[in-house]
Amino acid sequence: MELNSIHLHSQSTSFYGCHLVLAALSEVGKCFFKVWGCRGSIPAPATLDFDTRRYGGQTTCFEIRTRCQGVEKLSIIDMGTAIKALGDHLIGQLKRGEINRINARAFITHIHLEHNFGMGFSSPLFITGQMIEFFALEMPAAIRDFNNQLASLIDGIRFPRHPDQLPSIASNNENGKTIHDVKFWEILDFETVRVKVFELNHPSGCAGWHFRERAPDGTYTGPVIGIGTNTEHFSITNPNVQNLSRDADFLILDGMYEENQYYGTTPDRTNSKIGWGHSTPRASVREVSECGAKRLGITHHDPDHDDRQLSKMEARVRRYNRRLKKPVPEVFFLREGMSIDM
Ligand SMILES: [Zn+2]
Ligand SMILES: [Zn+2]
Repeated sequence: MELNSIHLHSQSTSFYGCHLVLAALSEVGKCFFKVWGCRGSIPAPATLDFDTRRYGGQTTCFEIRTRCQGVEKLSIIDMGTAIKALGDHLIGQLKRGEINRINARAFITHIHLEHNFGMGFSSPLFITGQMIEFFALEMPAAIRDFNNQLASLIDGIRFPRHPDQLPSIASNNENGKTIHDVKFWEILDFETVRVKVFELNHPSGCAGWHFRERAPDGTYTGPVIGIGTNTEHFSITNPNVQNLSRDADFLILDGMYEENQYYGTTPDRTNSKIGWGHSTPRASVREVSECGAKRLGITHHDPDHDDRQLSKMEARVRRYNRRLKKPVPEVFFLREGMSIDM
């Protein structure tokens, strides 16, 4: 599988030696991936003394376009605050006549708020004639599931609209159900892509999404993108993460914390982040270094880390990776606006 180019919208010209093409967004290619937001926990807008313009401050939202036999399908991963920009982009395409309908599938990693709370600001949800199908984990009854969360986030009280008033979910329903519960390890076959649901280490559960594009001959043997936005490494390697990465042309993995943040700095370790459900860049590289992932993009950037700190962390993990017996061929931190053709 030949990996094509990475594109950035950012002003920066340094990217620590990655194959980098500074270019306007190109949609030429087969399987296309774009970062609309890669911040964890809470948005981190740039201020005069806390610059986040390089890596971005919007919470998680990714775009994947897969193509097969003349059909192109849009998949959206999570609806963090960045969904507003992606939604506006889609509306722009609609207005310019580049597409005649928005028809997308949204795969929600888990129900923690920053992965969903942009939903009410996703313009396509409010426009009759558009279609967005949701896929989210079926949760134990004791935990609020995605259906409930949607109903509580957009309930007509805490938000001016109710889910029944979102035409792209409610009234334009082609198959009788636009919100689908999925289980871990379920496999979903679509026109252009096969999606498998992986189980990740995260409080109250998190879906890892494994996308394999359908090849021109109709088999699911095309490029693979593995998405592991939220996962904690603990002290042993996680076979689920390793399997998610094993044949990935591009793997996205949680690397939120600095090592000392994760393990804590006080003698009693009470300020450690163990158990919060996130990993460190170093642990993520270590987990996948023997598994054959060709590219690793670190995500879920800590809102307390500005561009300067993220740059340092990125340089450090790249040095660490080079010292491993089996380094990952390419390692970098995701940045808002970055896109990759595969
Ligand atoms: Zn998160
Ligand atoms: Zn979470």
